[in-house]
Amino acid sequence: MIPTDYSDALDEARWRLTGEVTRLAVAAFGKDAAKARPIFPGAETTAITADPLPALWAAKQLQALAAAQIYRQAQHARSAGHSWQQIGETLQLPDTNGPLAEAAFEYFTDEPVSFSTPSFSWRCPASSCGNMITDHGPYESHPDDCERGHAPGCARHAAALAAWQAAHDGDDW
Ligand SMILES: [Zn+2]
Repeated sequence: MIPTDYSDALDEARWRLTGEVTRLAVAAFGKDAAKARPIFPGAETTAITADPLPALWAAKQLQALAAAQIYRQAQHARSAGHSWQQIGETLQLPDTNGPLAEAAFEYFTDEPVSFSTPSFSWRCPASSCGNMITDHGPYESHPDDCERGHAPGCARHAAALAAWQAAHDGDDW
């Protein structure tokens, strides 16, 4: 995914986000936590903005929401059949030592929540399945090693197995 010119939309998002910081700060700390300030140093136009510490607290809350959104959209992307390579390209991850697909998976699984194998989960959209899938990342080639949890009759997993089989026909075993 290569974005086209989005600078106006980004400016608007920045403006709205500043408003959300103030709204959240006021909700949490009361309306005394915000006051009218020049919209930039020396400007005559003012806008109600949060005081620095309440704003700092609120911005941290919004950062957590944005991070959760990144995670959710990656789940949706895997659910929609997009590869870890495509996710890595879309995230525009900086130069990595290893393959981009692995870096993308590790972006979401780097913080160990347990001592088990890192994994990521999403729901299989196939009407013949609908299960929560445990995604073990792009390290192995066989679909059974990459994704666990598909229903026995899952059409999507069957297609992945058939594609893998077709790609490996003629391999020496
Ligand atoms: Zn499935």
